[in-house]
Amino acid sequence: MNRDTALGTLAARTHFDVLVIGAGVNGAGVFRDLAAQGLSVLLVDKGDFGSGTSAASSHLAHGGIRYLEYGEFRLVREAVQERNRLLSNAGHLVKPLPTAMPLRTRGSGLLNAPLRFLRLRDRASPRGVWVVRIGLAFYSLFSNAVANDLPGHKVLNRTDVGRLLPHLTTELKACALYHDALILHPERLIWELVAEGMQRSRQCLALNYVSVAGMSDAQVELRDEATGRELVVEPRIVVNAAGPWIDRVNGNLGQASRLIGGTKGSHLVLDHPNLFAALGGHMIFFEAADGRIVLICPFHDRVLLGTTDIRTDDPDADQCTPEEEVYLLNLVPQMFPGIQMDARHVVYRYCGVRPLGRGGGEAGQISRDHSLHLHRGAGSAPPVLSLVGGKWTTFRAFAEQASDRVLGELGWKRTSATVDTPIGGGGNLPRTKADRERAIRDATLDGRLKPTDAEALYGRYGTTAVAVAKACSPPDLDERLPGSRYLAGEVVHICRTEMVACLGDIVQRRTLMAMLGEATPELLETVARMAAPILGWSEDRCQREIKETTQLLARRHGVNLP
Ligand SMILES: Cc1cc2nc3c(=O)[nH]c(=O)nc-3n(C[C@H](O)[C@H](O)[C@H](O)COP(=O)(O)OP(=O)(O)OC[C@H]3O[C@@H](n4cnc5c(N)ncnc54)[C@H](O)[C@@H]3O)c2cc1C
Repeated sequence: MNRDTALGTLAARTHFDVLVIGAGVNGAGVFRDLAAQGLSVLLVDKGDFGSGTSAASSHLAHGGIRYLEYGEFRLVREAVQERNRLLSNAGHLVKPLPTAMPLRTRGSGLLNAPLRFLRLRDRASPRGVWVVRIGLAFYSLFSNAVANDLPGHKVLNRTDVGRLLPHLTTELKACALYHDALILHPERLIWELVAEGMQRSRQCLALNYVSVAGMSDAQVELRDEATGRELVVEPRIVVNAAGPWIDRVNGNLGQASRLIGGTKGSHLVLDHPNLFAALGGHMIFFEAADGRIVLICPFHDRVLLGTTDIRTDDPDADQCTPEEEVYLLNLVPQMFPGIQMDARHVVYRYCGVRPLGRGGGEAGQISRDHSLHLHRGAGSAPPVLSLVGGKWTTFRAFAEQASDRVLGELGWKRTSATVDTPIGGGGNLPRTKADRERAIRDATLDGRLKPTDAEALYGRYGTTAVAVAKACSPPDLDERLPGSRYLAGEVVHICRTEMVACLGDIVQRRTLMAMLGEATPELLETVARMAAPILGWSEDRCQREIKETTQLLARRHGVNLP
C-alpha cells in the first residue's frame, strides 16, 4: 500500500477498536500483535515509522548484564530471552555479537550490588573478574531457558587476550568473553512489523506523518503533517506508545501525566578500517575512566561508539553536542592506545532520548524496565494505556503485555501469540550452508544478478530478497548507486512498496545510506530522481527534498555535504 491510498482509506473511516500512537518499536509491536487477534487497529506516527528513539539505540539485542548490579533480575531474564527470540525470529537482521569485556581488577565490585540495593552507594567501584563471572553465570542461566546457538561465556587471562585482540590495552587483569546480539537495521525491522500488521488484516491501517493533535469526547483529532489536513477517529481504546513524548501526547489528549524521566544518549559512527580490524568482530563493552559502561562495536564495515546518558526533559533533544563527541572519541585510546583517530573519522552522529520512567539517582541508575499505565477518561472518552520505558530488545514481550491489557479492556480473546512468529525476511531462513547458498542463488533470478549482489540483498532482506531482486533488473537497476553499497532497484522497490513520504525516509530509514557515511550530493540527487516518477514528485519537489535532507543531515547528524 502507498501512503496516499492509506490516507484515503483513513479519511473514509472513523471507527477503530484500537488507536496506537507512535510507530517506534513498541507501538509497531503492539500493532502487529493486535492485528493478529482480529481487531481493527490504526497506527499513526507524527514522523516516519521508527524515526524516534528506536532509531537512536546502540543496536544491541542484549540482556543488559550491567542491570544485574541494580537487582533488575526480572528485566535481565526477559531481555536475554527476547534476545534469543530475536535471533531466531529475525535472524536476517539480528546476528550473534561476540563481546569482550576487559577487566582491570580481580575482586573489586563485589559489594556494588548490595550497597546500591541498600542505597549506600551511588557510583560503582570497578567491576572485577569475580563479580563479572557471577553476572555471566546468571546471564547464561537465564539465556538457556530459550533455545539458542550462542557459545557459552569464558574469562581469558592476559596472555590469551593478547593473542585474540592484539591491539587491546595491556592494562587489564583479564577479559570476559560472551555473546549478545547486534540489530543490523532496526528501522527496517520496525517497517517489517508495521507491514506485517497491515498484511494480517484489511481492518488495520498504519500511517506515517500523521500526528495526534487532541481529543474531544470520544473523538481523537489527527493531522496529516504533509498537507495539514485534519481527520477524526473514534477508537474504543488508545495505546500511547509515544516513547519520550508520552507525557506530551497525554497532554494533547487532555490527560496530563508525568510518567517519563528521559535521558539523552549520543553515538558516533566511524569510518576507521584499522579500528574495525582491531576489533576482530568483537564489541568491546567496557568501563570508561569515569566508571560508565560504554561500547566500541563493529557495525557493518563501520565502528559504532557509544554512548552518553544525560538527563533531559526535552523529548526533542536530537543532537550530539561537541562535548559528547569529544567524550566519545576519547573512549578509543582508553582501549586501543596505539590507534590514531580524530573527528575526521566520524561519518555520522546520532542522538535519542530514552523513554525511562521517572526515577531518582544518576542517569545510569534509572531502571530500564517497562510498565503500563491505564487512564480511564471521563464521559465518553476512550481509556488510554501508556507504555513507559522498555528496551528495544524487549519490545515483543512488552507489546504482548500491552496487547493482553487491551484485549482484557475490550473483552476480546487472544487467538495467536508472537513468541515464535518470524518477522519479515526472518521467516523460513535456511539453517544449513547449502540451503543458504540455494537461497542466494534464487535471488540471482537465474543468473540475471551477480552472485555478490544477490548475497548482499539476501543479507539486507532475508527471505524477501527475491522480491527486491525482481526490481533490480538489468541493464540499469542492477547497478550500484554512486558511492553506495545499495543497488538502484532497491530504491525502486522501496518507493513502490514501503510507504515512503520523503527522501530522508529512503536514505535514513529504509536504507542505511546516511548512517554508513554514503551520503553525497550525487547520491541524494540520484535517489531523488529515481523516487520522483514513482512518488509523483515535480522538479521543484525533487530539489526541495534534496535541500531539506541535506539540511537535516547537517543539523542532526553533523554530515556537512559540499
Ligand atoms: C542512546 C540510546 C541507546 C539505546 N540502546 C539500546 C540498545 O542497545 N538495546 C536496547 O534494547 N535498547 C536500547 N535503547 C532503548 C530503546 O531504543 C528504546 O527503549 C526504544 O526504542 C523505545 O521505543 P518506543 O517505541 O517506546 O519509542 P520511540 O521509538 O521514540 O517511538 C515513539 C514514537 O512516537 C511518535 N510520536 C510522538 N508524538 C506523537 C504524536 N503526537 N502523534 C503521533 N506520533 C507521535 C514519535 O514520532 C516516535 O516515532 C537505547 C536508547 C537510547 C536513547
